Amino acid sequence: MIALSDAQAYVLDRCERLAASDARVASSLGLVLAAPVLSGEAIPSFDNTAMDGFAVRSADTAGAPVDLTIVGTIPAGVAADFAVGSGQAARIMTGAPIPDGADAVVMVERTELIDDDTVRVEIAVDAANHVRRAGDDISPGELVFAENEVISPGHIGVLASLGCESVSAYRRPTVAVMSTGDELREGSATLAPGQIRDSNRPTLLALLKRMGINGVDLGLIADTEEDIEAAMHDGVSRCDAIISSGGVSMGDYDYVKVVLDRIGDMRWMQVAIKPAKPLAFGTVGGVPVFGLPGNPVSSMVSFELFAKPALHKMMGNLQSAPVTQPARAVSSLRRHADGKIHFMRVVATLGDDGVFEVESAGGQGSHQLLAMARANALAVVPDGEGIAEGGVVDIIMI
Ligand code: AMP
Ligand code: MG
Repeated sequence: MIALSDAQAYVLDRCERLAASDARVASSLGLVLAAPVLSGEAIPSFDNTAMDGFAVRSADTAGAPVDLTIVGTIPAGVAADFAVGSGQAARIMTGAPIPDGADAVVMVERTELIDDDTVRVEIAVDAANHVRRAGDDISPGELVFAENEVISPGHIGVLASLGCESVSAYRRPTVAVMSTGDELREGSATLAPGQIRDSNRPTLLALLKRMGINGVDLGLIADTEEDIEAAMHDGVSRCDAIISSGGVSMGDYDYVKVVLDRIGDMRWMQVAIKPAKPLAFGTVGGVPVFGLPGNPVSSMVSFELFAKPALHKMMGNLQSAPVTQPARAVSSLRRHADGKIHFMRVVATLGDDGVFEVESAGGQGSHQLLAMARANALAVVPDGEGIAEGGVVDIIMI
């Protein structure tokens, strides 16, 4: 068996960041910027009001309460074609440009309408009161985002504000997914004895989707070297990575590792973890291929520990390793010593003191997918007898 960290390092070393290209901002969520973004303009681009109210000359309000003559109304989106003179005020809506002559805004709640043409201002205000200055969010030429920042919904908003329609970002990988196994079927049709339904492919495609990656479904592949080889070549010809499940254990029909050994630069690893001990990882024509174990929980855990960090690295994400944090076991997480780290499926809830509290999500067999579905975290239980009730354990949120 090899250490998890060695296996992870081996995989990461062989997955390169993809090339940068121009990405449409609207579809750039989760991508990593390949170049800094500089602002071409000021945001806001003009002085405007933060409140609904009246634009005034602040000096006029010194002796408040004071009655001012209303000279017009300025909705958002309209530049006034009049100025506010001494003794005057303009009705103004949030976001509208401050008219010439005015230097402050009195919020509507601090005014009283005397008649159609007259407003009483109840308070004295300073210059710039409720005025959002041009450039007070972003100034022209400012470094808005640095290279390697991950594009979040907020980034997309800023880029939209600046009128950027595309950015330079590392390419999102296209990832092929296949399931191997003669016993596998899909859909609602009645199963013959011994057959089961394929759960790994839909799960892995969903895990990819959650990362913002559209998987290419290569379908169900029979347990023959020819079929597996053809599917691998198909995937390599049109994708940046391949994820298969099944066929990497010690069984007689485990042909995935046989094929990868022949057509690729492959390493078959027995990783000191449970579940997901077997992993076939290699490259075929330079394209990374993840041969994940077939057991449904194992394939998911293997995805979290190996494929996900590797795909993050390919997308240019500098922080690609799974993040662990300490949690408290509210009931014991028992195991036996076997030289492996166990990744137990747990439900984590935030305790009163801000520390996560975890308990088993259910059956811990590598075929027991229900507990994996219920779990929101994996507890990293080191070799030994496990964690006693109240003990501290690292978790990875999934
Ligand atoms: P294997 O790694 O091919 O020996 O498969 C290990 C176990 O996982 C066997 O019980 C398989 O039937 C099961 N298995 C393999 N692939 C899938 C799949 N795509 N969906 C559900 N179970 C699977
Ligand atoms: Mg199989």
